[in-house]
Amino acid sequence: MTSLYARHKAVIPDWVALYYRDPLEITHGEGRHVWDAEGRKYLDFFGGILTTMTAHALPEVTKAVSEQAGRIIHSSTLYLNRPMVELAERVAGLSGIPDARVFFTTSGTEANDTALLLATAYRRSNQILAMRNSYHGRSFSTVGITGNRTWSTTGLSPLQTLYVHGGVRGRGPYAGLTDERFIEACVADLEDVLGQTRAGVAALIAEPIQGVGGFTSPPDGLYAAFRRVLDRHGILWISDEVQTGWGRTGDHFWGWQAHGQAGPPDILTFAKGIGNGMSVGGVVARAEIMNCLDASSISTFGGSPITMAAGLANLSYLLEHDLQGNARRVGGLLIERVRAAAAGVAEVREVRGRGLMIGIELTEPGTDRANPDAAGAVLEAARENGLLIGKGGAHNTSTLRIAPPLSLTVSEAEEGAAILEQALRSL
Ligand code: PLP
Repeated sequence: MTSLYARHKAVIPDWVALYYRDPLEITHGEGRHVWDAEGRKYLDFFGGILTTMTAHALPEVTKAVSEQAGRIIHSSTLYLNRPMVELAERVAGLSGIPDARVFFTTSGTEANDTALLLATAYRRSNQILAMRNSYHGRSFSTVGITGNRTWSTTGLSPLQTLYVHGGVRGRGPYAGLTDERFIEACVADLEDVLGQTRAGVAALIAEPIQGVGGFTSPPDGLYAAFRRVLDRHGILWISDEVQTGWGRTGDHFWGWQAHGQAGPPDILTFAKGIGNGMSVGGVVARAEIMNCLDASSISTFGGSPITMAAGLANLSYLLEHDLQGNARRVGGLLIERVRAAAAGVAEVREVRGRGLMIGIELTEPGTDRANPDAAGAVLEAARENGLLIGKGGAHNTSTLRIAPPLSLTVSEAEEGAAILEQALRSL
């Protein structure tokens, strides 16, 4: 039988990023596993795309969704619904942002788009600071500020974007610096960029750990240092927590918390994992920023009862079962196992990560040149042996990305690392 892809590829745009020579058709899942149309079982080390945050087919979420579907799926966002208000209360409380207001969207792109809308309206400026190698979504405004070439699509933008250093540690002019010197150099770069612009910049948008960019993280404290400069200029800080939120990094509930003294951002955006696969995104900002728009606005599907019911059930499960703690414990063990699996493999330049967000950067042996072919080969070999992983990276998709559901068990971590070792050693 030919695959679903082979039969229907004529209707799929060429630019849709699909994994594998013959893209998979997934039919169902349970826990940390999914099955394809031929009945093959896979350990899911990418959790959808960090979207299945707790587990596949989690009974608590399934029950909440089916009960809500039995009552009403969508009541119109012109009215209120209880799951939305309850989820907004919980997210506001967890965000760390004082006097927080929450607006729900259907994706991370739309959340960041809204954050940019708020920041530019609040500051009456269309200048945005973004990090090199960043990714914030695929709408015209978010893709327009994306610093990662692989995902920047056209390079055109409705916003004027100024890029600063700091998102990627091991490359570029600041490679090899100590944490302290790296932060100093990035702050000097930020000051330099600001010194060259005439209009007031609206906001800096940044992922605490770059996701699509290859799970690269700046030293703790970078954003606290940036914040001091931004505050002097009245520039807002948008923390894009689409990948780093909800405890994924193990040590912290939000990525911004790794930057301690920085305090909460002015605007926080989230999506991916909160709905456990249901399309839930959103923006949190303090009231004076959120309320700076004086025109009416809605998201037709943002805050729909069915997605909100999923978000509430998922968040409750996550907190009650301390999945952040699990991400720290099992993630700590997994990164050790991955380091051992990668030891001596000539293509592996670095294994890095935090909690259940682990990257393995591949280069051409003995050089700094990205090695997307090797990354593709490891993905195929892992799939053959029943393991799904992701890829991404600076300049090219040459970093393997591991981000399983946060309920991953120790034995699943060990099983996955063993398959990964085989795949890496087949290079
Ligand atoms: N922001 C970050 C950090 C992301 O990683 C992504 C998606 O990968 C987005 C925003 C866009 O989210 P979505 O694909 O839900 O629109």
